[in-house]
Amino acid sequence: MCSGRVDLEFVFRAFLNGMDGVFIGGCRLNECNYTTQGNYYALSMTLLCKKIMEHIGLNPERLRIEFMSSSDGILFAEVVTDFQKKVAALGPLGESEGIDRDQLTSKLEEVAKLIPYIKLEKREKLASRLGNRKEYEEFYTSNEIEKLFTETVSYHIDPARCQACMICLRKCPAEAISGGKNRIHVIDQEKCIKCGTCFEACPPRFGAVTKISGGPVPPPVPEEERTIVRKSRKKEAP
Ligand code: SF4
Ligand code: SF4
Repeated sequence: MCSGRVDLEFVFRAFLNGMDGVFIGGCRLNECNYTTQGNYYALSMTLLCKKIMEHIGLNPERLRIEFMSSSDGILFAEVVTDFQKKVAALGPLGESEGIDRDQLTSKLEEVAKLIPYIKLEKREKLASRLGNRKEYEEFYTSNEIEKLFTETVSYHIDPARCQACMICLRKCPAEAISGGKNRIHVIDQEKCIKCGTCFEACPPRFGAVTKISGGPVPPPVPEEERTIVRKSRKKEAP
C-alpha cells in the first residue's frame, strides 16, 4: 500500500534473482494518503541504495523511483517505458559493468548480509525529512558508504569474561549465539546481523561482549574448551 514499505532488501533480492532494473512507484511527495509520508522514506532508501550500487560497481541507473498519482496513467506509461528502454540499453546486470556472474553474486550477497546493519547505522538518515528532492540527492556521500563496508562493526564474546548467564543467547534476534549452562557463549559471525543487542544486553559486571570496528574477529573457542569451570568447583576438586 505504501512505497515506504519497499525495503533495501527487496531491491537487492530482485538483483540477486536476476532482475536488470528495479522501478519503485510512489505517491507524489507531500500528497501522502495517510500521515506517514512513507514516500520520503522510499526516496531516502532509494538514494542510499543507489550509492551502495555505485560502491559495488553497479550502474545506479538500474534503480529508479518516481512519484505520481493514480490519475497519472499516461505519465506512468511514459516513465516505465523510458526506464525499460534504458535498462535494456544497459544490458544484463553486471555484464555492462564488467562484473562476472560469480563476482556479482558474491557482491550482492555481501550487501544483502549487511542490510540489517546498514539500516541500523543509517536509521536516522533514513527517517529524515528533507525540504526537497535536491537535498536528498546530496544526502548520502560516497565516503560514508565506503565506511559502512570498511569499518563494519562485528561483535565478539570474550571467552575469559563470559559467565554463561545466557541473556545474550535469549535476546539475539538472529539465533546467532550458541551456548548453554556453564558454556562459554560464541557468536556465529555468518548468522550475526550486527544488531548490537548482545552488546547492550550483557550485564556490565561481565562486559563480555566486545565491539570490533573494521578489524578481524578472533576465532571461536573450540567446542571442547567451552565448559566454564567455576572457582568454587575448582576448590572442591581433589
Ligand atoms: S549482534 Fe545481534 S545478531 Fe549478532 S550476535 Fe549479537 S544479538 Fe545476535
Ligand atoms: S550475556 Fe554476556 S556473560 Fe551472559 S552469556 Fe552472553 S556474553 Fe556471556
